[in-house]
Amino acid sequence: MLPPGIEPAELAWREGVPESVRFGDVYFNRDNGLEETRHVFLRHNNLPERFASVAQGGHFVIAENGFGTGLNFLAAWQAWQNHGPAHQATLHFVSVERFPLIREDLTRALALWPELHPMARELIRKYPPLVRGVHRLVLAQGRVRLTLCFGDIADAWQSLDFLADAWFMDGFAPARNPSMWLDETIDQVRAHSKPGTTLATFTSVGRVRRALAAAGFDVRKTPGFGRKRDMLRGVLPADGQTEANRPGSIAIIGAGIAGCTLARNLAERGVPVTLIDSANGPGTEASGNVQGAMYVKLGVEFNDQTELALQALTFAQRFYETWRGEYWHPTGLLQLAQTAQEADRQHRFLRRNLYPREVLYPVNREQASELSGVPTESGGLWFPGNGWLEPKRLCQALADHPMITHAWGVNVDRLLPCSGKWHISGADGTTIVADRVVICAGHLSAGLIPVKGKFRLKSIRGQVTHLPKTGLRNPRVVICGNRYMNPALGQIAVTGATFDLHDANPLTTSESHQENIRELTAMLPAVLKRKDAEKLDTSNLDGRVAFRSTTHDYQPVAGPVFNGQDDELEDLFLLTGLGSKGLTYAPLLAEYLADRLTGQPACLSAKLARRLETRRLYQTDVVIS
Ligand code: SAM
Repeated sequence: MLPPGIEPAELAWREGVPESVRFGDVYFNRDNGLEETRHVFLRHNNLPERFASVAQGGHFVIAENGFGTGLNFLAAWQAWQNHGPAHQATLHFVSVERFPLIREDLTRALALWPELHPMARELIRKYPPLVRGVHRLVLAQGRVRLTLCFGDIADAWQSLDFLADAWFMDGFAPARNPSMWLDETIDQVRAHSKPGTTLATFTSVGRVRRALAAAGFDVRKTPGFGRKRDMLRGVLPADGQTEANRPGSIAIIGAGIAGCTLARNLAERGVPVTLIDSANGPGTEASGNVQGAMYVKLGVEFNDQTELALQALTFAQRFYETWRGEYWHPTGLLQLAQTAQEADRQHRFLRRNLYPREVLYPVNREQASELSGVPTESGGLWFPGNGWLEPKRLCQALADHPMITHAWGVNVDRLLPCSGKWHISGADGTTIVADRVVICAGHLSAGLIPVKGKFRLKSIRGQVTHLPKTGLRNPRVVICGNRYMNPALGQIAVTGATFDLHDANPLTTSESHQENIRELTAMLPAVLKRKDAEKLDTSNLDGRVAFRSTTHDYQPVAGPVFNGQDDELEDLFLLTGLGSKGLTYAPLLAEYLADRLTGQPACLSAKLARRLETRRLYQTDVVIS
C-alpha cells in the first residue's frame, strides 16, 4: 500500500462475531465481549473507583495496545460517563492500530452493543480516514479525547509523548500475534507508565508475565472471564507522592484564529484563560475576512510536512463540524490543475500516494465542471470534506465561553518575568498577570518575545477583493488555482488573495484588485468574463488587506519559546506562522499546545512536534534593544 494509505483489517464474521483473517483470532470474546472488557480491563484497573476521584480540570489516561473495533474504548467511555466526576475533567484514551477496520466493519461490529449505541454513533461519525499517523478525536463535548495512532506498535509508542494511568494490553493471543507482546513492546509500556500505573490483560502466558515483572511491574494472576482460567493484572509500585500537573493561569495574546481556537480549547478542558487583543473584539486582523477557504496543498512526497498538513486538514474537518451551516460550509473544494506544471505535479502526486476517497480524488474537466457548477478549463483534485468558513464570525463564536475572560483594547507592549509569573503590560498602563503566556499575535509576535536575538517571522500582505455577485457565475464550491474563488455570501463573492512580500501598505489598492481580477479571469474565464471584468471599477471595489504571519521555512510554529541559549522557557509559548493556512492549521496546533499546557497526551508524533519548534526561527546575530 502506498503512503499515506494504510492497510485495513480483513474480517470474517462467524456467528455474528468478527475475526481477523490475518491473525486467525477473535476481536472479543464470543460469549460476551462487553462483559469480558468490563471484567478484564475496567475492573482490574479499578477504573470506576479511580475515575470518580479525578480533579476539576484534570484527566485520566488509558493506553491500549490494539484498538480493533473500539469496544474497549466505548466501554471505558461509558464507565467514565457513569462514574467520572461531575465537574469538567477529561478521559484520555490512547490506542494504536496497525490494521484499522473500515467504517462499514466498525459500524457492523459496534451494532452488537445496543447500550453503547449513542457513543458508537459519535465514534463512527468522527472515525478518521484510513491514513497512517496520529488522529485526535474530541468526543462527548470534550469530556473524552481519543488519540488513535494508525501504524505499527513498534513505531507508535516510541514517537508519542504520554504517560498512562492504566493500560489495556489487548493484542491478539501472543501465539498468534507475537509483535504485540515483544520485550520491546513491554519496555514501551513501562516507558509510558508512572508510579501507580496499572495494567490488565486477558492473557496469563508465562513469558508475558515475566517480561512485565522484569520491566518493574508488580504482576498478579487472577481469575479470567468466563471459561478463561487466568488473566494478569499489574501495577508499577509508587515510590512516594506523585505531583499533579496544574496549568495555573494562562493568558493568550492575540484573538485571531490561533488565539481563539486555543482559548476555546483550554476553556472546554476546564482551564480558565484570559484572551487579550488590542482591538475591541476577536478576529480583526488576518482572521477578519468574511470568507476564507479551508484547504492545504499536499506534497508529492509523503514527508513530515505533508503528514502534518494532512493531519491538520482531517482534524480541522472534524473540529468545524460543530459550526456546520453556521460559519462552516463544507461544500467540497476543487484544486484545479490550472497550469501544465500543476497538472504534472498532481499526476506525480497521484502516482505516488494513495489517499482514501473521503480525503481527495482526481476529477476530469467534465466532472470538475459538474461538481463546481461552473465551466472549468481543466480537471484537478477534489476534496469532498473541505469548504469555506466565515473566519471573523467563527473567531467571535470561539471566544464566547464562560471560562474565557476578555481583555479587549489592551495593546501589549511588554512581557516581564516577575516572581515566577509574567506581567503583561499594555500601552495604556494595564497590567495582566499570568503563570503562563501564549503569544498568538501573528506578524506582531516577534516583537513581543522578551528574548535577545531575532525570531525569523515575516509578514506577507494579502488583499482580497469582494466581487458583486451580479455579473458573475457563482460556483457551488471553493475553487483554488492561482487564486481562490468562494461561493457567494450574500451579495458578494470573495476572491484573492495577493501575496505581497515587502509591502506594508494596510490600505486596499486598485492595483491589487486588478491583479486579483486578472488572475481570476485567467483561472475561471467562465466565472468572470474578461469583458465584464473590464467594466469593474477597481477604485470603488470593496476588499480587505491583512498581513499573514509566516516563517522563513513557511511552516507553522507552536511550542515553548527558545531562550536564546540552550533551552526553552517553561512558561512562555508561541503559536503563529500559519501563513495563509491558518483556518486549517489552527485547530490542530491549538489542540497540541493545549495538550502540552495541561500535561495530556500529545496529538502529534515527536518528529512532527519537532518541526514546529521555535528554536529553528532563532538567529543570534541580530540584537533587539
Ligand atoms: N481492543 C480491541 C477492541 O476493543 O475491539 C480488540 C483488539 S484485537 C484483540 C488486537 C488488535 O491489535 C487488532 O485490531 C490488530 O489489528 C492489532 N494489531 C496487531 N498487531 C499489531 C501491531 N504490530 N501494531 C499495532 N496493532 C496491531
